[in-house]
Amino acid sequence: MNRKINRRDFLKLAGLLPLSLAAEPFTRFASSTNEKQPEQQNVLVVVFDAFSSYNISLYGYPRETTPNINRLSERAVRYHNHYAGGNFTTPGTASLLTGVLPWTHRAFQPAGTVTEQYVNHNLFSAFKDYYPIAYSHNGWVNILLYQFLSRSDELIPRDKLLLGSDELLHILFRNDDDIASVSWLRDINVEEQGYAYSLFLSRLYQEYQEKKFKDLKHLFPLGLPTAGSAGSDNIFLLENAVDYLADRLTTIPQPFVGYFHFLPPHDPYRPPTEFYKHFHNDGFKPPKKPKDIFAKRPPKDILAKRAEYDEFILYVDREFGRLYEKLESAGLLENTWLVLTSDHGELNERGITGHSTEVLYEPVIRVPLMIFEPGRKTGMDIHENTSAVDVIPTLTHVTGQPFPDWVEGGIPLPPYGSGTESTRNIFTVRASKNGQYDPLTQASVMMVKGNHKLHYYFGYSLLPEMQQIKLFDVKADPEELTDLSASQRNLAGSLLDEMKAKLDEINKPYQ
Ligand SMILES: [Zn+2]
Repeated sequence: MNRKINRRDFLKLAGLLPLSLAAEPFTRFASSTNEKQPEQQNVLVVVFDAFSSYNISLYGYPRETTPNINRLSERAVRYHNHYAGGNFTTPGTASLLTGVLPWTHRAFQPAGTVTEQYVNHNLFSAFKDYYPIAYSHNGWVNILLYQFLSRSDELIPRDKLLLGSDELLHILFRNDDDIASVSWLRDINVEEQGYAYSLFLSRLYQEYQEKKFKDLKHLFPLGLPTAGSAGSDNIFLLENAVDYLADRLTTIPQPFVGYFHFLPPHDPYRPPTEFYKHFHNDGFKPPKKPKDIFAKRPPKDILAKRAEYDEFILYVDREFGRLYEKLESAGLLENTWLVLTSDHGELNERGITGHSTEVLYEPVIRVPLMIFEPGRKTGMDIHENTSAVDVIPTLTHVTGQPFPDWVEGGIPLPPYGSGTESTRNIFTVRASKNGQYDPLTQASVMMVKGNHKLHYYFGYSLLPEMQQIKLFDVKADPEELTDLSASQRNLAGSLLDEMKAKLDEINKPYQ
């Protein structure tokens, strides 16, 4: 093939491009050519939801959960002390996508939105002349993506990569997609109350689903992966999403700015047969930690839960490896900055499982950050403290875009940025019940400064005096086993003063 003709042009010439792709309704770049501008490189951010650094072998976890990522990252910059902006999807994702912390973008609550200002200050607006493309399995992420992207941008519908809904539509209503979509909403999708316009079609759908998924069930001993609330129409395979997106990227105009947010290893943990029981009875014993005051219902077998999570990570690892290889063989990695990260972590210790928790221990807020730079052949390890708010300024810096001057303390990270501030404060914020425009009255906040990390919980009635602080030397004690807040009272006091001054500053406009 002539190298000057890209794949899309070639397929068009050869008449091989599927009609559905040729007629994609995304018109933003319809009149521009597909000629690559060589000086402009693509940007692609890949998020695996609830992917904790703590459970990644590359970052020191004793179980080998990420053999493919380990191997591929020998060509990447690997950030070892990287923190999410929040400890669950909405605030964490919003921080990654806006470059500001939750107390600034104000998407505090589950399914929350950012304030008006950030609708135009985000990853996509930072790359103005790029082709924006995004996908998420996670509905809460889609709420944010709807805020950031306009109709002419390519926001791939969530349903498109869930199994079930789409295909049945085309079987039932083969001739008219528009009518099919309307009919789908009215007739088939049983609403929350269990009511559907057409009971006949609902039943038909259910039978269809049962038959269809029977063939897949043996591949996932704990059930098929599901996104959001339980229900067969939320089933997905990570393989499908990876295949679709890798193909789609070879056909869209360049340069593009892509954001793909896949649900695994988020719970429910559903490892495929290949990895099921992989870590079962492997003799691994995590360090013993005290039950936390915020522990709710301790799961029956927290060690088994952790093993399932680790096995689900093996699925993520395998599929990231496949995504990487697909992008590489399509030639995309030659001019694409690929970022692997997460929106928050996960916890299976201290009587807590998951991330619906007030606590801010390392496993629930420390997330991977790896930057695969075009042409890089050697790995590099960065141990400085870094934050989700650094991702946008780093990407604009390396691609020669203007500095996003709205970001909150974010900097172009080493080795790319010049002059890093190794003592700057890194924050994570959880205020899941806070009104969007109210000052923070009940929240969990943490501040990392150098080797030390301060946890500050306030406004929770179950705490003595409604507040609690903890201090750890997270470099010497990454498991957070020795609380130094009493033995190093002066240090704890001065960090707390700094934290409170920051909160005063943040709360001022909302008093
Ligand atoms: Zn999440």
